[in-house]
Amino acid sequence: MSKAKKYDILIFGAGLTGLTLAYLLRDSRFKIGILEARDRIGGRVHTLYPAGEAAQEAGATWLGKKHTALLDLLTELKLEIFPQLTSDRAVYEPFSTQPPQVVTLPPNDAPSYRIRGGSSILINTLFENLENAEVMTGQRVVSVEKRASDFLVKTDTGSYTSRKVVSTLPPYLLLKTVGFSPALPANLQASAQQTHTWMGESIKVSLTYAEPFWRAENTSGTIVSNVGPVSEMYDHADFADENFALKGFINGAYFSLQKEERLAMILRQLEKYYGAVVRDYLTYNETVWRKESFTFAPYETHVLPHENNGHALYRQPLYDGDFYLAGAETAAAFPGYMDGAVRSARHVAAQILKS
Ligand SMILES: Cc1cc2nc3c(=O)[nH]c(=O)nc-3n(C[C@H](O)[C@H](O)[C@H](O)COP(=O)(O)OP(=O)(O)OC[C@H]3O[C@@H](n4cnc5c(N)ncnc54)[C@H](O)[C@@H]3O)c2cc1C
Repeated sequence: MSKAKKYDILIFGAGLTGLTLAYLLRDSRFKIGILEARDRIGGRVHTLYPAGEAAQEAGATWLGKKHTALLDLLTELKLEIFPQLTSDRAVYEPFSTQPPQVVTLPPNDAPSYRIRGGSSILINTLFENLENAEVMTGQRVVSVEKRASDFLVKTDTGSYTSRKVVSTLPPYLLLKTVGFSPALPANLQASAQQTHTWMGESIKVSLTYAEPFWRAENTSGTIVSNVGPVSEMYDHADFADENFALKGFINGAYFSLQKEERLAMILRQLEKYYGAVVRDYLTYNETVWRKESFTFAPYETHVLPHENNGHALYRQPLYDGDFYLAGAETAAAFPGYMDGAVRSARHVAAQILKS
């Protein structure tokens, strides 16, 4: 291995947290390195941009007006949001023994919004505005060693040293995939062992279409089904309403099937609601997040959705105060969500600047 590269701050992960943190520290004199395991930036924010079709969110999509940290960041970066298209009518399938129905929904007091141009525009804009940070993709962190006055961090192919280190990996993934010397504190390990990685088991699916046929049926594309495999689906047209798609989730239990099998089941389900027109899709995309080894690691015990998300332990620096845990799951408010990611970046940036 070549000589270790030296930084003032090393950040593990170029997802929303890692990039926001580096952005917040852009005016500092620190030399920042970001080690990202994937060959792309963004982590759980990942918009697919097929040419001439609606952009599709494989990961994070919606935010609400309560997500003030995220909204502030979007405003600062001059990025816009637009309302998720819905109406008061939805397809609802309560049981396999009952036909699907079109139901009237109660008024929604807290509408959802999407980021104009796709969620990845936030990632790309942060990346473009970094000043003193070097993003290194394809660098999977495998070990961290605390030494007298710095850390030695190793990836599969490189070595790095740094005075301060910030991990933005979901706590459970960090525990399972990165070796520490000396070991992480026992109470932190116990908590991370039981910390859910938000949406890590989900399967996101989308179908693009030339026409939004679902609107003609007066349903707005909103589907809620207890039968599945699609459990929720929504209109996913772009902001200009020129390119159309349906996008939603299928039950995570279908992860072991082949893509073609999942698609066949989805089309059969949608056909029940809208007829043969559903087969005229342009492209089908899916992301089985359980198979994304830089997001999900299989749990050894039963872990509940959001379990230990936002645990206070995650906001205390470790290893003489020089190692910080960040990431959506560590945030004091809205943990697991994009807003939590931004909040955790703000929290760690403030701690680093104070020190
Ligand atoms: C399908 C899905 C739908 C979602 N929907 C929403 C939504 O509608 N609204 C919302 O607010 N949130 C949603 N979320 C959650 C949102 O995506 C996350 O809160 C946010 O993206 C987390 O950002 P992060 O940077 O903290 O973590 P991550 O995005 O997980 O970033 C961690 C980064 O670390 C990298 N990494 C992993 N292991 C290593 C390693 N060993 N070495 C180096 N790098 C490593 C990863 O590749 C990744 O880039 C959704 C998530 C998913 C998966």
